[in-house]
Amino acid sequence: MKTRFAPSPTGYLHIGGLRTALYSWLYAKGREGKFVLRIEDTDRERYVEGATDLIYRTLKDTGLTYDEGPDVGGPNGPYIQSQRMDIYKKYADELVKKGKAYYCFCTKERLEQMREKDPTFKYDKHCKRLSAEEIEENLKNGVPYVIRQDMPTEGEISYEDMVFGTVTVPASDLDDNVLIKSDGMPTYNFANVIDDHLMGITHIIRGTEYLSSTPKYNLLYQAFGWDVPSYIHLPPVMKDAHNKLSKRNGDASYEDLLEKGYLKEAIINYIALLGWSPGDNQEIFTLEQLTDAFDVRGINKSPAIFDEAKLRWMNAEYIRAMSKDEFLAACEPYFKQVFGEKEFNRDILCEILQPRLEVLTDISSKISFLVDFGNYDPELFLHKKMKTNFEIAKNSIAYAISGLNNVDWTHDSIYDYLVAIAETIGYKKGQFLYSIRIAITGVAVTPGGAIEAALLLGKEETLRRLNYSLEMLSLRK
Ligand code: GLU
Repeated sequence: MKTRFAPSPTGYLHIGGLRTALYSWLYAKGREGKFVLRIEDTDRERYVEGATDLIYRTLKDTGLTYDEGPDVGGPNGPYIQSQRMDIYKKYADELVKKGKAYYCFCTKERLEQMREKDPTFKYDKHCKRLSAEEIEENLKNGVPYVIRQDMPTEGEISYEDMVFGTVTVPASDLDDNVLIKSDGMPTYNFANVIDDHLMGITHIIRGTEYLSSTPKYNLLYQAFGWDVPSYIHLPPVMKDAHNKLSKRNGDASYEDLLEKGYLKEAIINYIALLGWSPGDNQEIFTLEQLTDAFDVRGINKSPAIFDEAKLRWMNAEYIRAMSKDEFLAACEPYFKQVFGEKEFNRDILCEILQPRLEVLTDISSKISFLVDFGNYDPELFLHKKMKTNFEIAKNSIAYAISGLNNVDWTHDSIYDYLVAIAETIGYKKGQFLYSIRIAITGVAVTPGGAIEAALLLGKEETLRRLNYSLEMLSLRK
């Protein structure tokens, strides 16, 4: 068995597209099948330079490696449609000979006029009725033409979809689609059939937007006497009940999600669950586990809603599951951004960040207090629940300063010293440590508490900040 992913090179991989690739890959790999990548670039207007590289990179990066494809080769290439023009023309001519397709010389003007009269207009098969001599004459004179599929006009056409069951389309819905355009390029309607057959694709996995045009494709398979493949159509990925998730409407693509600080493993895991459920409550899956678990029976018919909050949750799970080295390596570019030339203790950073991060991009807001301090709002010292006030803050800071210089700069010594003072002056430990934390960070929320902040900042900087804050409080009227 063999599946394929057939993206158009539009310059990004949208979430629905990546899900199609993932499901196709999983379906093949779970059944000892092969997975093919084919680039569908016959719509030259949508073509974006460099877009194919992005597709190769993304699939390899996410582990969705392909057995055949443009840059890896294979027995059924080329795998880029624009390099297969001769093949399409040959098969289109064969269809014309079989009487299942015909040359159409109608001008744009004629078609436009008809469409103006009737917006639901279907092609009237005018050129199907041309005589052999007329066709010969037109071809000889170089009159531009397209090749159209000759559709039945009566009855209905059905096929079995593995997700949606029997799909039936009345023949009256079918238009005599263009198979080869006047510039010689095939349309998607034609090329997908020729390629899927020649590339030996047994299972076609793609979006439901193709559900109702599949009967047309099946007529082509039948006209050539080829086996019709099995179909698995996937419901759309939505951003809410009414709108499809779409990069063109400004929604996130795969690349955008990476940029927003999501890990590729978490993205793939989350996307797997967008429209498929394993039948139990398991949510965290490696690619290998997905390969074993994935099954068409778990694919939902109804649209899936992309829920970024859920993805954030899942991403946090992946972050927490990383080894310390993996975590620090992933953080490094963000550390560089925040710290510049300065250095901070990686062990403590890991300890305070790893349990609290949902996305890597949050690193900067969480730890910028390390390099950015001063001129903060003194109201931060007023914690309602802990009943702190300016007096408590001022005294806590002053006492802390008094002996801190002689404290060993380790977690336990700092902690023991501060807690002992709190006890001596009769403040609650929470009130005291809260006041110190605000005084040395200047922000309401930090990952970790006063001790971690002090350890990261070092003795000198901690004292400098305590003095600054004490002065600020003393100057208050
Ligand atoms: N090139 C088509 C698309 O990007 C592929 C459809 C298919 O998988 O057959 O929508």
